[in-house]
Amino acid sequence: MAFDHTGESRNEAIPGIAAAARIPAMAQPVTLIPGDGIGPELAEATRRVLDASGVQFDWEVLDAGAAVMAKEGTPLPQRVLDSILRNKVAIKGPITTPVGVGFRSVNVALRQTLGLYANLRPVRSIPGLKTRYDDVDLVIVRENTEDLYAGIEHMVGPDAAESIKIITRAASERIARYAFEYAVANGRRKVTAVHKANIMKLSDGLFLESCRTIAAGYEGKIAFEDRIVDNMCMQLVQKPELYDVLVLPNLYGDIVSDLCAGLVGGLGVAPGANIGPDAAVFEAVHGSAPKYAGLNKANPTALMLSGGLLLRHIGEQAAAERVEGVVRAVIAEGRTVTYDLGGSAGTSEFADAIVARLESGA
Ligand code: NAD
Repeated sequence: MAFDHTGESRNEAIPGIAAAARIPAMAQPVTLIPGDGIGPELAEATRRVLDASGVQFDWEVLDAGAAVMAKEGTPLPQRVLDSILRNKVAIKGPITTPVGVGFRSVNVALRQTLGLYANLRPVRSIPGLKTRYDDVDLVIVRENTEDLYAGIEHMVGPDAAESIKIITRAASERIARYAFEYAVANGRRKVTAVHKANIMKLSDGLFLESCRTIAAGYEGKIAFEDRIVDNMCMQLVQKPELYDVLVLPNLYGDIVSDLCAGLVGGLGVAPGANIGPDAAVFEAVHGSAPKYAGLNKANPTALMLSGGLLLRHIGEQAAAERVEGVVRAVIAEGRTVTYDLGGSAGTSEFADAIVARLESGA
């Protein structure tokens, strides 16, 4: 059951919230996009862990990105979109986007084409992992389809460029409703809207107004406040414990996600999900880190924990808890962790340690 901005129930479901328990009669079909850079190594490590979770998967592996572009003239062939829409769930490694020139981001195109409007990025401290704070527990809800990422830009003469920032009431209310419904379903206490409405009075002003409209329907249930994005960044670095669920337009959501990843151990441990009414695509917050590609060095935790979000999404709560628990336990022990967590294990050794523990049931 979902709620409209007045708080009254409606029949339109909020996707991915309160998934029904799955009847495990047959293997779960999942589209697997390995990506490029460090993506294929992380995708393989994650596939092995999900296969050891106790849930049966039927993997449909499809490529996208620069290599596909070179062969087929498009980095995102229709068969990839068809597979995701057929299976309803996908997990993907990062895909490199050429800087300045070349094709548009495949990651952004996937989110826009499939209407994956909610980018959910939980940020949680991992016990035993030495960071500035021990008790960070935030959830970022990023609008995923518009803002400056709409990709409408052009040169204005030879020496000036213009990018158009699109903010609509419909998309802003939809993401705010998602944030509040997430808060209700997950026992959260507060939603903070993040904006720059003091300067961008119309676009960010509309985002903030939309969040306020939705918040009114949850009064007495979920607290609401707003913060200007620059102040928000400082507050998150100094006092992350004051915040709970953050709802942001696309660009701020992208940037603040990396900041929050830094609070809990870096990009190697920050998972994410792109959720829409027709499908969901699970991926880490980080990119393809090309300098580590093929070195069996990168940390697969973020993609594995994205796999945990996938398990929750399909109603496999117990398997999700097992995977998340084992990943966190192996990190807490600190013996078999990757370079970014202070260890010397490779991607595959880290995965071995997790798979072994999942298979032994310890
Ligand atoms: P990045 O996230 O790839 O890497 C930045 C740095 O973070 C790396 O150099 C590394 O030090 C660290 N890092 C990232 N992931 C790690 C991991 N799993 N384990 C250990 N360390 C890790 O960011 P970037 O260098 O700005 O981007 C590289 C490419 O990735 C760009 O083409 C960008 O467009 C793309 N990208 C893709 C996605 C996606 O597929 N969703 C997201 C972000 C960036």
